[in-house]
Amino acid sequence: MSKFKTIDDLDVSGKRVLLRADLNVPMQDGKPSDTTRIDRTVPTINELTKRGAKVIILTHFGRPNGQVVPDLTLKPVAVAMASALGRDVAFATDTIGDSANAVVGAMKDGDVAMLENVRFHAGETANDDAFASSLAALGDIFVNDAFSTAHRAHASTEALARKLPAAAGRLMQAELEALGAALGTPVKPVAAVVGGAKVSTKMEVLGNLSKKVDMIIIGGGMANTFLYAQGHDVGISLCEKDMAEEAKKIIASAAENGCEIVLPVDVVVASEFAANAENETVSIDAIPSDKMALDIGPASIADVEKRLASCKTLVWNGPFGAFEIEPFDVGTNSAAQAAARLTKAGSLTSVAGGGDTVAALIQAGAADDFSYISTAGGAFLEWIEGKTLPGVAALED
Ligand code: ADP
Ligand code: MG
Repeated sequence: MSKFKTIDDLDVSGKRVLLRADLNVPMQDGKPSDTTRIDRTVPTINELTKRGAKVIILTHFGRPNGQVVPDLTLKPVAVAMASALGRDVAFATDTIGDSANAVVGAMKDGDVAMLENVRFHAGETANDDAFASSLAALGDIFVNDAFSTAHRAHASTEALARKLPAAAGRLMQAELEALGAALGTPVKPVAAVVGGAKVSTKMEVLGNLSKKVDMIIIGGGMANTFLYAQGHDVGISLCEKDMAEEAKKIIASAAENGCEIVLPVDVVVASEFAANAENETVSIDAIPSDKMALDIGPASIADVEKRLASCKTLVWNGPFGAFEIEPFDVGTNSAAQAAARLTKAGSLTSVAGGGDTVAALIQAGAADDFSYISTAGGAFLEWIEGKTLPGVAALED
């Protein structure tokens, strides 16, 4: 698709390399509880330092909304990065200014440093030119390894890339190459599974997807919203009622484009979102008004499995149910295992993305058999829609 630059195209020796990474890791008791994102960035850092670069890591954590929020400091991430690399990582207590200047000024070739949370500055999400210039002053080269934030035009992903020689890091490169190989010219029929909790943010994606794929299989809170739009009572289910009109539009646009919208026919309901909550399977016409749908039911699972078997390509974002709590993981596990079996048998190319989706596929024991698993959620979906990702476009000039 695109001809983005990689670190093969740059001479980094003796240079200050600003490396945008996505190290927005889950944190528990002040420590990263899952270091996947840290570990996946290590190869780029090691290659750059081996080639004599000074590597200055630039990343965000949480949503501090342009304010200094002490709980959202990157200090514990820098500590975890140091242990992943097996070497010191200097830490600057601000992203720009005196502290950043001092830390970067003290670096020798091959050193690694991390700057404080880039979202402590309002200029980051505003893609502010002056803020990007302050960042650019700290480096000679920009390398972006944060595919998962590439759908957002922020100062550290977009404006900065236009101020310095810029290239994709190895992780960004791997994501783009793998997605291109699996989905560049997808073999039809193509199915998309879209589920999970982030209904409104994924609605627009569905509209565009309906023009690209043959079938959209909807699960999770997204399915509840569509069922509600079709006039079903969804009780106290996770459902964005103000999205009902949008859902109807998507159903209409899908029909025009020959894309089938697949909704559950039965659901597993409970009174509360809790592990082993008392539950029953009901038809979508019979959801009690004091219960919530937490998973798809057995008839829906059988339907999904049959449909996956009829497809050649699958893209998946969002679980079918509350997969973190038993027994509401059954729908997601069954569909994931079916997709994994079909992929292993060579009849399906399967690509999945999204933080919770990946966790769900790992939990289902299905992740290893998928054709490709992306670290990204939103960026993954926008890439599939065929949208230009601002963070990638900035590496193409
Ligand atoms: P991803 O991170 O893969 O993009 P989301 O964040 O959109 O996915 O959705 C994942 C979340 O959706 C999970 O926490 C899961 O418990 C929740 N979820 C899925 N189905 C339901 C449901 N029916 N009711 C409540 N929560 C649900
Ligand atoms: Mg999520």
